[in-house]
Amino acid sequence: MTQRQGGSRRVFLALGGLTLLSACAKEQPPAPGPTAQALLPSTPPPPPPPSPPPTPSGIPVQREPRYVVPASSARKGSKVVALTLDDGPDPRYTPEILKILRKHHVTATFFVIGQSAAAHPGLIRSIADAGHAVGTHTWSHANLRKLPAGKVKTEIGRAVETVAATTGRTPTLFRAPYGNWSRTVFTECAAMGQTSIAWDVDPRDWDNPGSAHISSKVLNQVGNRSIVLTHDGGGDRSQTVQALRHFIPVLLDSGYTFVGV
Ligand SMILES: [Zn+2]
Repeated sequence: MTQRQGGSRRVFLALGGLTLLSACAKEQPPAPGPTAQALLPSTPPPPPPPSPPPTPSGIPVQREPRYVVPASSARKGSKVVALTLDDGPDPRYTPEILKILRKHHVTATFFVIGQSAAAHPGLIRSIADAGHAVGTHTWSHANLRKLPAGKVKTEIGRAVETVAATTGRTPTLFRAPYGNWSRTVFTECAAMGQTSIAWDVDPRDWDNPGSAHISSKVLNQVGNRSIVLTHDGGGDRSQTVQALRHFIPVLLDSGYTFVGV
């Protein structure tokens, strides 16, 4: 390791952020890990921005969402992966997905839309009662980059309050719709005790490319500490359901342990 490791990490995160936004614009998803680090420019990185101010929640303001599972989750010699599901709950697909997860004894993280959670509180309780983590994904799946701070706060806060009232536990994990984070979003999240979670594996299941395509994309892109993005709502997710049936047991057979983000 060189003395510039910290700077390289910052550049890597910045590159990751840019690529993530590109991915949401329906371009190629990011290629995380050593490969991306090997492509880092040799020019010195810019100086770091000043330290973020303290927040009412005590959680520091993030500069980037987190893209991978924390290293502490991985036991020595084991591989971990986090499965995440956005845009639910949906009465057609969420119960089916819960059944698949139960069958394989794996847990996942659901980033739910507040108004869907309010419409289907039983599904939210089913997710939580099964031991899965419930994070939030705004009240109405809003593009937060286009909103002023007050509306950003309402979009995040209303979803957080809805899940808290339904499960009795205040959620602390947040994912911005379309991966559209901003300084305002990070500031509001920190004030509300929310940690932003992105992903490094995107099979683009929202585009319904076929269950075999979704499954092979996950299996080809996944690595130790990956966060996999899939969807249990927001449209016809039958291909996602079928893909989960396939790739979860393959990952388990490959030695992966499913963990939270
Ligand atoms: Zn979404």
